[in-house]
Amino acid sequence: MKRAALALLLGLGAMGMAAAQYRGPLFDAHLHYNTEACPHEATPVPACPHPLADVLDRMQRNGVRAVLANSRPNDGTLALAKAQDATRAAGVTVVPFVRLYRNRDDYNNWFRDPSIVAMVNTELARGTPAGPYRGLGEFHLYDSANADGPVARELMALADEKGLAVLAHVDDVAVEKLMAHTPSKGRQLRLIWAHTGIGGTSAARVDALFARFPGLHGELSYRPGLTCGEGTLCPEWRALLLKYPDRFLIGSDTWVNQRWQAYDGLMQGYRAWLGTLPPEVAKKIAWDNGAALFGLPEPAPR
Ligand SMILES: [Zn+2]
Repeated sequence: MKRAALALLLGLGAMGMAAAQYRGPLFDAHLHYNTEACPHEATPVPACPHPLADVLDRMQRNGVRAVLANSRPNDGTLALAKAQDATRAAGVTVVPFVRLYRNRDDYNNWFRDPSIVAMVNTELARGTPAGPYRGLGEFHLYDSANADGPVARELMALADEKGLAVLAHVDDVAVEKLMAHTPSKGRQLRLIWAHTGIGGTSAARVDALFARFPGLHGELSYRPGLTCGEGTLCPEWRALLLKYPDRFLIGSDTWVNQRWQAYDGLMQGYRAWLGTLPPEVAKKIAWDNGAALFGLPEPAPR
């Protein structure tokens, strides 16, 4: 950054003036379209609080131009992938992931349940109307020891071999374990770390893991200690984002319907702190890093 620009930025900060919001495209790298939002697996569809038109409108009015989509069960993702006229009209590219969950019980058992591998292979073979699945997840490991479960090992090897990305809600120890279970020992796997340590993994530890694993990316929803007040990044996280501008992503994590209802506010919150970063760094975190992971072109301005 030029000295004058830095001085100006510091001056604005000192005067307590709000930085301009980031106004470019957003890549929502953690989106669920679960059965509670709309039960696409049932016919006829019973109560559907958030039909396709509603969720696409939320994305469109927030400048979200691509979504990493997954759902419990996978029918929600398939519904998004199938609605190509509607997603095109909304200017949204759908990047489909295979969720490992058919239902809530699978959250706590997927890592040792062989029927999950069969389900994943069936989905991968079938693909989606928006193209092949690009990754696996989101999955959860509430106890890092379960990263050693037979199905967790098998699916990490599968992801590594097939070049699938992974969206994992895990702790720092499980990141190491999952990486160790890949044939490349984590040198190749693109692992998107949901929340970048929801339990509050220290910035120093995140830094060490990023240095060790070149394909490790951090998605920032719910990340404790990220912001210090409205629209302000905490100093150590600001430093980490500036140190690894190519490795962070934003996401909505619409795991319950309240998150759909809060979608506008979530995206405005991201735009506020993104606006405090150098413009090229903001653009990377907002869009470029997700686009690079999945080979998406720059979206046409709307
Ligand atoms: Zn999630």
